[in-house]
Amino acid sequence: MNKEDLKFNSKTIHGGQELEKGYGAIMPPIYQTSTFAQVTPGKHKGYAYARSANPTRTALENSLASIENGNYGLAFGSGLAAIDAIMKLFNPGDEILSNYDLYGGSFRLFKEVFEKYGLVFHFINMHDVETIENYITKNTKLIWMETPTNPMLNILDIKAITNIAKEHKLLVAVDNTFATPYLQRPIDLGGDIVMHSATKYLGGHSDTVVGGIVVKEKELANKLYFIQNASGAVCGPMDSFLVLRGIKTLHVRMQRHCENTATIAKFLNQHPRVEKVYWPGFKNHPNHEIAKNQMKYFGGMVSFMPKEGDYNRAIEIIKKLSLFTLAESLGGVESLVGHPASMSHGSMPKEEREKIGIKDALIRVSVGIEDVQDLIKDLENALS
Ligand SMILES: *Cc1c(COP(=O)(O)O)cnc(C)c1O
Repeated sequence: MNKEDLKFNSKTIHGGQELEKGYGAIMPPIYQTSTFAQVTPGKHKGYAYARSANPTRTALENSLASIENGNYGLAFGSGLAAIDAIMKLFNPGDEILSNYDLYGGSFRLFKEVFEKYGLVFHFINMHDVETIENYITKNTKLIWMETPTNPMLNILDIKAITNIAKEHKLLVAVDNTFATPYLQRPIDLGGDIVMHSATKYLGGHSDTVVGGIVVKEKELANKLYFIQNASGAVCGPMDSFLVLRGIKTLHVRMQRHCENTATIAKFLNQHPRVEKVYWPGFKNHPNHEIAKNQMKYFGGMVSFMPKEGDYNRAIEIIKKLSLFTLAESLGGVESLVGHPASMSHGSMPKEEREKIGIKDALIRVSVGIEDVQDLIKDLENALS
């Protein structure tokens, strides 16, 4: 059976994987080595030096490529290291369009690091797909997007944006961290590059920091591989192993994340002490129709504003929660709560932040896979 013909729920387990040749180990060994013996210079068994390639990392890279329906996967030391590698494809003067409601760390990397080297970023509203063309110049090379967005959970129409990019021969890169390929596969929608913070849902257990890139075209893969090896921000064998193990249960975890989140979003929405709930599953969410077409379910994240909320009220609620731990990050089996204005988007200037709608009272929840009744009890207690 060709492993690439498998359905998604089998690809997470088998996609791109082969049995280990020595003893038939079911999981790839953690090849904790920096180098590999050569018979004569340049003659070896496919691996020479572990920055260039490591068999455990290769197993992860093949898994990533398989679940995203791409042909080539690359694993990095963090999600931001993966984005860093993508940006190194470009030259001074090249222009990049990005959605403005962006992960804070990506925004910081673009503004504070890459602008210094001459890349030009335009942070724009991509909900009005037609207006994107107004920003395209002869120097535009890439459209970067993230959907659902963090933490407002807006949805961008990947296919519509990709169609515009194709007309202008631009590359499209999608940060697929929040959705995961369980919910949406950007390459199937015409995207060129898929990027992941595997730290989140792919790893799924809050035990490692890893990044990933998947592409379809060989030429692009070669360029990225060159950068990965030349810059060296690779992912180690132990971390590769952990993410591989996480991916094997991705479909089961995501299903529960999505179910629990739907229940919690509805609970919050009818709560008298809640002002507004941001979740793309609501019919009155401005991008609900796109979400319905583009995603399998509505994801594991929900944000909300408490009634008469300000900074103090948000912190009061967060402190009263006991099952939801206050922490950065998302996508693990345990529920986490975050305060975007001071945490994930603390690195973004206040005015930029408020333009996106991140007020001081906003609370973001990464819903875990605990029993949802326990989670609701905890929320009820904190709100009352
Ligand atoms: C966490 C995150 C990143 C950065 O990934 P790291 O693994 O923390 O470097 C990028 N994009 C999104 C959407 C994220 O949530």
